[in-house]
Amino acid sequence: MTTADPQLLANIRIVLTRTSHPGNIGAAARAMKTMGLSRLVLVDPAVFPNSQADAMASGAADLLTQARVCATLAEALADSTLALGVSARRRDIVSEVLTPPEASIRLLAEAQTGPVALVFGNETSGLSNEELSLCQGLVTIAANPAYSSLNLAAAVQVLSYEIRQAWLGHASWPQPELDAATGDEMERFYGHLETALAELEFLNPGSPGKLMLKLRRLFARTRLAKEEVNILRGILTAAQEAKQKANGTRNHGAE
Ligand code: SAH
Repeated sequence: MTTADPQLLANIRIVLTRTSHPGNIGAAARAMKTMGLSRLVLVDPAVFPNSQADAMASGAADLLTQARVCATLAEALADSTLALGVSARRRDIVSEVLTPPEASIRLLAEAQTGPVALVFGNETSGLSNEELSLCQGLVTIAANPAYSSLNLAAAVQVLSYEIRQAWLGHASWPQPELDAATGDEMERFYGHLETALAELEFLNPGSPGKLMLKLRRLFARTRLAKEEVNILRGILTAAQEAKQKANGTRNHGAE
């Protein structure tokens, strides 16, 4: 019998966004290490490095030393093909809601081909709309509906435990069914889409409303392969060129 592959756990990143309390960062590192996870990414932490974080990490201080600190969530997710937001509420932005065991299986299967991420929010405000719009799915820990908000590090512990159980239970995983685009490729696509829609006068840059968030939700639900992103960007470029040509003809005609 083959044993579970440690590389799969190394490809799963725990991303903590805008963490206020350094003690929670340390406790999250400890929660991860007890379950064999090692890659911690901190997005714009309020205080880091910090002695309280070291104290709460205890024997997991090595995860803090190796932690990657990023300015934005987009930067943290640039090379991941799958990012799942962990949130007790907020189902409006991301339509797919997974349980921790379902999320673990998705992450481990996808981790065979590259880095994937679980994204946790700030202690008080949770994940923002913008942060959630960078995730392709949502994971909710079914808790007491009258009091469902776990401590950040406790939430990291629950998810890390579930990932470990799924990892131990499967010696092999089905290959992911598509060669998914990375976070960076998706962000460049959304940038192109927004520019093209503005040029085509479909989107008013002065009042974009919720259009881009809705389009992000649509594509997050479909999940795009690298090749599909290239096709869509080719279509956008063709539309932009057609519009420029039409403008040129009109301007020429007016001369
Ligand atoms: N008041 C915040 C709670 C933040 S708790 C809010 O309502 O969103 C800090 C983080 O822990 C959350 O952003 C989330 O990532 C995680 N968390 C806490 N409880 C959770 C639950 N029941 N399900 C999923 N994630 C949870």
